[in-house]
Amino acid sequence: MGFHPDFRYFRPGGRAKGEIVLKIEELESLRLKDLLQLDQIEAAKLMDISQPTFHRILKEARRKVAEALVDGKAIRVSGGDYRFRNLCYDCRSEWGAPLERCPICGGISVSSVAREGGRGPPHRKV
Ligand SMILES: [Zn+2]
Repeated sequence: MGFHPDFRYFRPGGRAKGEIVLKIEELESLRLKDLLQLDQIEAAKLMDISQPTFHRILKEARRKVAEALVDGKAIRVSGGDYRFRNLCYDCRSEWGAPLERCPICGGISVSSVAREGGRGPPHRKV
């Protein structure tokens, strides 16, 4: 359920007609909004950005994915400056290292979330 930072590359069957680069935070916006179906305010809060910024990132992410699907382009997931936080959807606790269960309430609704910006570890640049 969490966000995994592996490099990803998606290619259409046959020959790709070009490539688009989807930033880490753009993929994360799709995951939070379209896959987990959080509302924008909640998703923005998880990514530690404003709701208008989240909306802008999500819009660009959707446009890029649509372009790839319609025009037969490959998608490379890369770039962006982000760090990870692990959090519990039950009690809203946050912690550093990835765990199967929440260390506070023992809940299993935990997820790693990518956030923009470089405020403190854990932090990775892609
Ligand atoms: Zn918890």
